[in-house]
Amino acid sequence: MSDYTSRVLEQVRAKNAGEPEFLQAVQEVISTIAPVLSANKKYEDNCILERITEPERTIIFRVPWQDDKGNIRINRGFRVEFNSAIGPYKGGLRFHPSVNLGILKFLGFEQVFKNSLTTLAMGGGKGGSDFDPKGKSDMEVMRFCQSFMTELQRHIGPDTDVPAGDIGVGGREIGYLFGQYKRLRNEFTGVLTGKALNWGGSLIRPEATGYGCVYFAQEMLATKNDDLQGKVCVVSGSGNVAQYLVEKLNQLGAKVVTMSDSNGYIFDPEGINAEKLAWVMELKNVRRGRIREYAEHFKGAQYFEGQRPWSVPCDCAFPCATQNEINGQEAATLIKNGCKLVAEGANMPTDLDGINNYLAAKILYGPAKAANAGGVATSGLEMAQNSQRLNWTSEEVDAKLHSIMVNIHRNAYDHAREFSGDCTADFTNYVAGANIAGFVKVADAMIDQGLV
Ligand code: NDP
Repeated sequence: MSDYTSRVLEQVRAKNAGEPEFLQAVQEVISTIAPVLSANKKYEDNCILERITEPERTIIFRVPWQDDKGNIRINRGFRVEFNSAIGPYKGGLRFHPSVNLGILKFLGFEQVFKNSLTTLAMGGGKGGSDFDPKGKSDMEVMRFCQSFMTELQRHIGPDTDVPAGDIGVGGREIGYLFGQYKRLRNEFTGVLTGKALNWGGSLIRPEATGYGCVYFAQEMLATKNDDLQGKVCVVSGSGNVAQYLVEKLNQLGAKVVTMSDSNGYIFDPEGINAEKLAWVMELKNVRRGRIREYAEHFKGAQYFEGQRPWSVPCDCAFPCATQNEINGQEAATLIKNGCKLVAEGANMPTDLDGINNYLAAKILYGPAKAANAGGVATSGLEMAQNSQRLNWTSEEVDAKLHSIMVNIHRNAYDHAREFSGDCTADFTNYVAGANIAGFVKVADAMIDQGLV
């Protein structure tokens, strides 16, 4: 690292103590963009690193609501408006008991670079609450969402900040949030993405993150004249991203042998085919049950309580649950068992030790901010359709998503080869490539716009 990057990293550590996920995300980016900083003194002269690691605005608010028994409950709400240099703030809302400011700052920071990579005009933001939708009735979720939006609506808008879903925020929650926004502001606008089709949503938005991650994996494999046909794949999670990622892998002839939730994972050596996946979707989206029921329902499948799937031998791994779900040792186990590709559907699912293991083993590693950017890219397409008051067909949206993922791959690949010293004929450092490509566009826009 250069003097400049070391100094900024020290300042960020001192200012954000107690936010380990945010520091991890900043360290990963700063450690890989050093070659661009050394080659372009303007970034240091304009204090771009100091500015890009500080959110433009952070909003924290009380969310009071009443449960079905009439008890008063209080949660904490957040919106981190991280960077608007290239467009309105854009990024999801997460409802999960683990949510705190540090988690949302890491997600917002990652979102800035990811959104830049999509080539669309979107800044970065993230928000959410420590509210846990699990075990709550629909009416409780609705009352919480209405209270949350009563405050959030002051800070967002179709040209200001456009939230979407994330963990714990799916179609149901987006509906309640949108309804309350519309009621308070008396306007029907594209202020949220991930809306249902009959009131402004886009076809392919639910599928986009999972499909896009698979398209990115295809592009990485193509650099080695390979494809997904017949590949054994290990997937974590069983939510929105995991479900559609498994659907696309099946369509392309791969065999998915695991899925998981926060309690454990199932291993099905026969493969989770389309029919079994439909059962999982009903289990998770309608009955809101646990993945362990899969092993009770399908003969030959096994359930592993309290474990993650990374010890299952595979050709390709797709973490699609949450941050830091693969540590250094688990990454080493994946590699030892023959895994040749990791593409991240979740945000920052691999810790820094794990990333170093992938890079040392020179496997195909697609980091989250490139590999899962299809979700937010399609949110950008939803915003474009809302502005035009038009709906594009599934084929049109999917073709645009595919082309965006091909471009993101190409952009990360080219920037890695231009700037990262450790690329070889057989190896591309996509971490460096994605970080550099994402950074340059935002940093140059910040310089153009002066000291704001
Ligand atoms: P969902 O809430 O639909 O699903 C999350 C899945 O991950 C569930 O299976 C959940 O299990 C599991 N999970 C959540 N927390 C943990 C945990 N602490 N340990 C183990 N498993 C856990 O969320 P999404 O599918 O939308 O999001 C998954 C990941 O993808 C997140 O990292 C998100 O930030 C990222 N992402 C999502 C995008 C989107 O478009 N939705 C876009 C880009 C990234 P359980 O059922 O038990 O809760």
